[in-house]
Order: sequence, then C-alpha cells, then structure tokens
Amino acid sequence: MKTTILYPSLALLAAAAAVVIVPVEAAAESCSVPPSGAMSLADSRDDVYVSRWCADQSKIDMLWNGLSLDADLWDEGWGYDNVCDPQLFLPRLLNAAFNVTKVQEISRHFGENNAPARRLWWDFIKEREDDGYEPKCCNDEPGLNAAHFSGGLSTNLCIKWGYKIGAAVRSSTLVHEATHEDEGHVGDDECSNGASCDTYYGAYNANTMQINYLYDAVSAYQIETVNGKPQRKVTRFTTGGAEMCAYIPLWTDAERDGGIDQISYRINNNFASGSVFPKYSDVDDVDDAYGASWACANCEVGKYTFSLQNLGKNKACNEIANKANAGVNAANRALCTSFNGKIAKAPGAAAYQTLANELYLATKPCLSYNQADLDAYCSAQQATAKTVADLDPYGILADNGFQEELECTADYCRDRFDPAWSSHANEPTWDDPLGCLDMLCDDDTECRRRFLVYKADPAKYHPDHCTDVLLDCIEASPQQAQRSPQLWRDGLSPALKVDAVSASCQSSYQFCRATEEIARRVAAMVLIERWTVPGPGPVEDLRTNPRINPVDQAFRQALLRLGARLKAGLGEAQFTAELAALMRHPEAMAATFDAGPATFAALFGQKDFTAIVGPQLARISPSLAAVERVPAAKALLGKLNAARVSYTKLGAQQVQKTLQDASRELSPAQFEGLIKALGQASTPAEVEAALAKASP
Ligand SMILES: [Zn+2]
Repeated sequence: MKTTILYPSLALLAAAAAVVIVPVEAAAESCSVPPSGAMSLADSRDDVYVSRWCADQSKIDMLWNGLSLDADLWDEGWGYDNVCDPQLFLPRLLNAAFNVTKVQEISRHFGENNAPARRLWWDFIKEREDDGYEPKCCNDEPGLNAAHFSGGLSTNLCIKWGYKIGAAVRSSTLVHEATHEDEGHVGDDECSNGASCDTYYGAYNANTMQINYLYDAVSAYQIETVNGKPQRKVTRFTTGGAEMCAYIPLWTDAERDGGIDQISYRINNNFASGSVFPKYSDVDDVDDAYGASWACANCEVGKYTFSLQNLGKNKACNEIANKANAGVNAANRALCTSFNGKIAKAPGAAAYQTLANELYLATKPCLSYNQADLDAYCSAQQATAKTVADLDPYGILADNGFQEELECTADYCRDRFDPAWSSHANEPTWDDPLGCLDMLCDDDTECRRRFLVYKADPAKYHPDHCTDVLLDCIEASPQQAQRSPQLWRDGLSPALKVDAVSASCQSSYQFCRATEEIARRVAAMVLIERWTVPGPGPVEDLRTNPRINPVDQAFRQALLRLGARLKAGLGEAQFTAELAALMRHPEAMAATFDAGPATFAALFGQKDFTAIVGPQLARISPSLAAVERVPAAKALLGKLNAARVSYTKLGAQQVQKTLQDASRELSPAQFEGLIKALGQASTPAEVEAALAKASP
C-alpha cells in the first residue's frame, strides 16, 4: 500500500498577509517520543540511514554545522547526547539532512532533465537556514510538519515530521522550508489543499522547489568515480535466464514511490493556477526514462578453450589443425575476461554496446589449418589406427578440407596394401580387412577394381576427369587395336598396334588437360569478379561454423589477392602462372560450384556437376547460356566450343595450340571493360548489345 502524506504548512506565513508574525514564547509543551502512530523503523529506515553517518564524527560535524544547530535546543532528550539512537529526533533530522547531501552529490552531475539549475540542494539549505532548527511538539497543530521564521529565528520542526514520514521523503521538507527564506505562500484558500499554497508549478516557490528536489531524488542512482569521472554504478543480475545490468537507485523503490506520490499530491493540490502532469506515475516510469536496466551478457571464457570433447561446439580454434591457434585462443580468453571486468563498470546500455563492439572487433579469427600440423596429426593417427575408422574420429581432417581426410586415408591404405588383395580385383563386393575399399570406393565397382589392380594408387582409383579418360582409353587399347584392322593396314605388329592406340590415348589426354586449363581460367575469372572482401557483419559465428571450410576460405582469400594484383598491373604471364597453380587446388572446383552451379556445370561438365550436387539436382539442366552471361567466359567459350568441334578434324597438337592461344587472349583490361558493360544486362539481347558496345 502506498501512503499519501500531507504537509500542511504554516498559515502564519501567508504571503497575502505580507506580515511576518513573531511567535510569542508559549508555555513549554510536553509530548511523548516516539509519538503514538509513529512509523516503524522498518518503514522509516532511520536506523539504516543513521548507520551511514553516525560512526564518523566528521560526518556528524558536517551535518550538524550545515544545519547550524544549537546544542541548547537539542539536548534534554532530543538526541544531542545520543546521536546514534534512531528513535530520537535529532538523528532523524540528521538523516533528512544526510539524504539531501546524497541527492546533491548525485544530482550535481546527473540532475533530473528540465529541472531548474538549482541542484546544489544541500548548499541551498545551508545558505538559507543559518538560524538553525528547533524541535517542537506542535500539540496545537497536529497536522503541521514544520514552520520557517525570518529574522534570526530558528525553523520549527514538529515531531510529526520526524516520526510519521520516512527518512527519505522527510528530507524534501528541508528544501521547502529553506525556500521560505526567500518566498512565502499565497492565501490558504487559493489551492485545494487549503494551506501551503503557491502560485503555480515552475515559479520560484516552496512547493516547486520541493517537487524539483524530489524529482532529483527519485531519479538519483548511486555513483562512483571511474577513470576520474563520476558515473552511475552498475549492478549485474540474472532474470528469466537473461543476464542484465542496472543502475542502483539511491532510495529504495518504496521510498521512491513515496517521493512520486508526494510530487503528484503537491502538483494537484498545492498550486493556485496552472496545471501540469507529474512526470512519473511509479518507479518503473523513472527507470524507463533513464534506461536504468539493459541486457548485458557476459563473455563466456570457457568458449575459447579448445578440447576434443568441445570440438565444433564452442568458439575455440582448433589447436591440432594449427598449433598457433593456442595463442589465438589464449588471446581471446584474455579479451573475454577483460570484457567481463569492464561491463560491470559500463555506465549504461550504450556503453555496454560499445564494449561489446570492441570485443567483437578485437576477437581474433581462427588461423586456418597448418599443413605441417595436420600432417603430423595424420601421421600420429596412421601409426595407431587399426582400421580406417580410427584415423579421424573427431573429424579434424574432414573439417579442414575433404581432401585432407581422403589423402590421409589413401596414404594409410597404400602403406598397408597387401599384394594378396589384388586377386580379388574382379570381385566387386569383396572388402579388405582395413575398411579401405568401403571408405574410399563405397560401391563404385570401377574404383574398387582400380584400387586393387593399381595397388591402391589414388591417382588411378580416384582419377581426375582427364586421367579417367586416359585410363578408359588405355585399358581398352588391346581390344581397340584388335577391333579395327582396317586402320592398321600397314602391317603393324599387334604390339605396335596397341602402342599406336595408346599414343592416340595420350593425345586425347593432352587435349583434355588443355581444355581443363581453359575451364579453370574462366572459372577463376568468374570467381574474382563475383567475390568481394566480406565487410563487417555477424562473421563471428561463421568462424566456428563447422560448415565453413577454412581451406575454401583460404582459397577465396588467395584468389581475391590475386585479382587485386591483376588490377594493380600484374603481368599477364605471371598472372596466368599463379592462376593455374591456384586453380589446381582441390577446393577450386567446390568454390566455383558455390559461386554459380550453372557456371560450374558448363565449365567442368555434367559429370563433375553430378558428382557434387547429386543426380537429383543435376537433372536441372545447366546451360551454357548462364556461363555466357559472364563476359570473360563468353570470350573463351567460343574458342572452347570451336576447339571441341574441330577436335574431330584437327590433330591433337594443333588443337592444343589453338586452346593455349585462346586462353591467352583474355587481357585484364578487356575483361574489366566487358564486366562493367555487361553488369547491367539482364537479357541475352542486352548482353549482345552491351558486348557490341564494349568492343573496340
Ligand atoms: Zn510552506
């Protein structure tokens, strides 16, 4: 229950009377202290406030002298001889004064918005009440709290004020009475309160000053000095699973609600004219206005600690794939710890966000795998693995490029290849005891056969496209030589016939390689144009996303750097050499596919496309037209197609030369000009028009 407390003020001071009446010394009153109906200490909190100053004589002196008190008036049971007893009147006056000093300490830096500039509330009181205060029973005026007198007389304080108003709100009366040194009230019938009336809120008068003091008090949050500057203290807590930060109010919420009720009552009842709404209806209103609480999640230091058990489950970088990641993790843990230390001092949501942003920017990315470290891991695993299943139980090799896992397994299987296995070359379902065939070939019968025939040589059972063509051709050579006797009319021996067919296979192979070179070059050009350096954004999560392949990332970065060097004037021959080296990387194919499946399919063929996307998706027929949208590709594809067409008519060496010439024709300047012109085109006709325009 909230209680509304009334403060009828002294009618004697009615400004309308314009006369200061000096009270006649009345007969000594007597009254019991605490009076009947006094607030409990739990409600008034006088014991709490007393404990904040009474052990420190300098604080007692500061309050006593600030109030200009006279020992003669406060002895005889009022508390002069026992200032630490919260049940006596003097300590209750000092509690009110103490609250004023605390409100001044805070509001001089963080005063309520729009209140008048007079926020030095304690100084304000000291200057005006240098005649001191006197305790009174006020038996004749049971509603009275206090009365100010001018002309060298002390201000009367009634025991009702000291015992029926809590220590926090009680302090506002001192501001009210001090204002009377400058301004009296208007007539009692001017306002609905029927006493203590002022003209309107906002003019300089006792009620306005009391209200403004209360606005400062209910919005006063505890402060501290950080880096030489005062700022609000922050407390951290968890609610509903959310980590929260908040300012700590000077007063309890019950005291603040009491202050807000007092403001509201005075605005509504103690002014003759003018009407304003109170700014706040409860403490939540105040806290909302001040952004007094905000989400402030901690940085979890443990998330940057690497362990096999947490692999891929936290933000720690893999220290096996790259030993230098131990340093990265340690640095990130230090940043995390430092962040946690700072957020407890961050004065508000904006300051927290700034720190969070700084943490985000400073957090170091994981280093991609180190080949030597990964090789060492592979070797160690190979030494102890009983079957291929033991090689990479945590998927560390697989996470760093599918090729890594494959190579480690292939290497292991080649080392442990048992020549006796070869006798099973024609048994498509036979499995070796180490699990090599199952892991490396699954149910691919050609792969299984070649694994056993070529003694686990991965270049043979996992051939690239051109090698596959070559092997098919050579493996068929004897039958081929036998099958076309009319071609070998010149009386070649069977062995020479096979040699001749094999030589033809080699030519096909050379052609295949040359075609592949063009495709790679076009692909690289497409990738360079399409990719940009990633800007700021929620990249952090991606760093530890197991789906992001660090090898692929490294490849993209290398390609971007090469593209930048090309634009900066890197020589064409040098560019071509570096590009060729880069595009032989196994991740180049996957990256090209990512950038544009249709482009990929057109460049590398339906077979490789199917291998990557699977047969279902591959049925969505990729088209050359999609590739032609990329001008670099268009320029080369013409040559590529011509070469393919003329392959049947031209000798292999001639074809090869044509292809090499074509691949050199793409100059950096041409490429960039066409890209710009074609960037806007969206239909094939527009592409044609743009091409025509861009041509010299
Ligand atoms: Zn008054």
